[in-house]
Amino acid sequence: MVTARAVAEGVLDPELPVLTLAELGVLREVIESDDRVVVTITPTYSGCPAIEEMRRDLRTALTEAGYRDVEVRTVLAPAWTTDWISESGRRKLLEHGIAPPARVGPRPAGPVPLNLVPPPARVPCPRCGSAETTELSRFSATACKALRRCESCREPFEHVKEL
Ligand SMILES: [Zn+2]
Repeated sequence: MVTARAVAEGVLDPELPVLTLAELGVLREVIESDDRVVVTITPTYSGCPAIEEMRRDLRTALTEAGYRDVEVRTVLAPAWTTDWISESGRRKLLEHGIAPPARVGPRPAGPVPLNLVPPPARVPCPRCGSAETTELSRFSATACKALRRCESCREPFEHVKEL
């Protein structure tokens, strides 16, 4: 039987399905004892509707792997930041033409409203690497991504906003 941790780590993020929950950095803890699994996750953006999907996907994946008693807990502190996206996660985003978030470093404790996060100064184009890119829309298909366009290759691309 695959370990509960391995199953949980392989579940894909509903909003950025090229990333696993492990790569996204939302997976905090997986505790396995006998048939019982307790998974702890920290949601990404405050009020993110994807959290319910994550919980359901985790429960489904673990149930299908043979774990009968699965509990998914949510822990809000410390708050998730885009800095928790792993290096392999950042590489995968780039490979899929999505600009990864810049590193933001430590921030004061407490929830950060999405609309108060200032846009980053420079977001290089994931296709050609040009720094000449413009934000077209603060929100694209999902609230966590902005839509930008490269002024060099003229291609639009999505950018995972720093948080
Ligand atoms: Zn470009």
